[in-house]
Amino acid sequence: MYPAVQLLIDGAWGPSASGETLPVLNPATGETIGQLAHAGIPDLDRALAAVQKGFEVWRKMSAYDRSKIMRKAADLVRARVDTIAPLMTMEQGKPLAEAKMETAFSADIIEWFAEEARRAYGRVVPARAENIYQLVLKEPVGPVAAFTPWNFPINQANRKICGALAAGCSIIVKGPEETPASLAAYIQCWLDAGVPAGVINLVYGVPAVISEYLIPHPVIRKISFTGSTPVGKHLAALAGAHMKRVTMELGGHAPAMIFDDANIDTAVNILAANKFRNAGQVCVSPTRFLIQDGVHDSFVEKFVAKAEAQKIGNGMDPTTTMGPLANGRRVPAMESLIADAVQKGATIATGGKRIGNVGNFFEPTVLTGITPEMRVMNEEPFGPIALFSRFSTLDEVITEANRLPFGLASYAYTSSNHTAMSLGTRVEVGMLSINHHGIALPEVPFGGVKDSGYGSEGGLEAIEAYLNTKLVTQAGI
Ligand code: NAD
Repeated sequence: MYPAVQLLIDGAWGPSASGETLPVLNPATGETIGQLAHAGIPDLDRALAAVQKGFEVWRKMSAYDRSKIMRKAADLVRARVDTIAPLMTMEQGKPLAEAKMETAFSADIIEWFAEEARRAYGRVVPARAENIYQLVLKEPVGPVAAFTPWNFPINQANRKICGALAAGCSIIVKGPEETPASLAAYIQCWLDAGVPAGVINLVYGVPAVISEYLIPHPVIRKISFTGSTPVGKHLAALAGAHMKRVTMELGGHAPAMIFDDANIDTAVNILAANKFRNAGQVCVSPTRFLIQDGVHDSFVEKFVAKAEAQKIGNGMDPTTTMGPLANGRRVPAMESLIADAVQKGATIATGGKRIGNVGNFFEPTVLTGITPEMRVMNEEPFGPIALFSRFSTLDEVITEANRLPFGLASYAYTSSNHTAMSLGTRVEVGMLSINHHGIALPEVPFGGVKDSGYGSEGGLEAIEAYLNTKLVTQAGI
């Protein structure tokens, strides 16, 4: 059922020039389920020639016609959800229902960008003298190199593809080696929708080799990366050395602030569902649960019950609510963060251990009595770990929320308008969701500040990221 995954260069799937392949593992069983073509420099050179050619074709196509192809791609993705999603569960581990949701949601995102593709307007600025036009033109920045991770195999690439194509750019995606087949099947929808050869290219290989080659290359005009902060800083520096435009969607360590006046049941239901979604391997996952004194104990008790109600197993089993971690290396990472916290005084309220020795299963974990000197309060756990600590005052919780260099997502539950407005102005993040979980929709900005990166992958800003602004000023003769 799991296909051999090839490279997509200039509209055709094929092996790498060297014939080299990488194995793909199922994180629920540890078994090798397929092979992946592994690009070398000759393949990248072909991809660069293709993406340049694709750009010349795509930029000249009218926004109206580009939009039609994009809408058709969305329809095809939606029609193929049931064949694409199982590939994602097999390679990434998430429950099939989540894989279907991600695939279907990617179609919604394509559709929104298809609509906005027709509205990448410039403007006319009134001049200081008669008989002069001042035109602000928007032009596609050029061929893009995008680097996307394994936690949302389709949607991390989808957001970049949509922004680039809506603006009239072509793209080379360096996809996630751990989870390649669902992304390849999704990209096939674009080909079947009629996207011209070379507009979307897909390669896999050694990430550092590919980024070191593509980022400085003169054909590439824009870099977009989603992944960890250390890798993001490295790639942003490389892009800076070559004066390339950059979007960086990096790690987070989201505070979830629960006030005494919150609706606790709503907060527990929404936050627990979002903590354990995709086994916590989500950059906007709620991580630091900061609970006001009056509701701390009841919140912890209800949250622990939700953690213990998770059904852990192979994502293909329809009763599973949380699958394995996608990468074997994340299991010792969880164990080491938990051991450090316990050694420094944390209490394990539930979970804390690997499950069995087949696959990368890990218990949904709640740690209480957490303090800022613990490593897990400073490093992104990127797994099913929820950290609980108390606060007394608004100032105290805002200080803790802003303590880390990360600034991606944050959450708050309160019935006080004053508290909500204070958080809105004082919390240093790219996204703040109050009394519900309202982030990551296609039409709203998605991105971080500080060490969580810069640029947006949602809303109008996500198209702007792929556009240059040009002034043309003309006097009548
Ligand atoms: P990692 O730092 O090894 O890799 C993160 C991602 O960057 C992967 O997709 C990897 O292929 C890519 N990458 C690594 N080095 C690269 C290079 N030199 N050039 C181009 N791409 C490169 O971490 P990991 O073990 O895969 O994941 C764990 C950490 O990554 C987490 O702690 C989390 O912070 C981060 N992460 C974030 C997101 C996100 O959505 N922001 C997604 C996945 C991983």
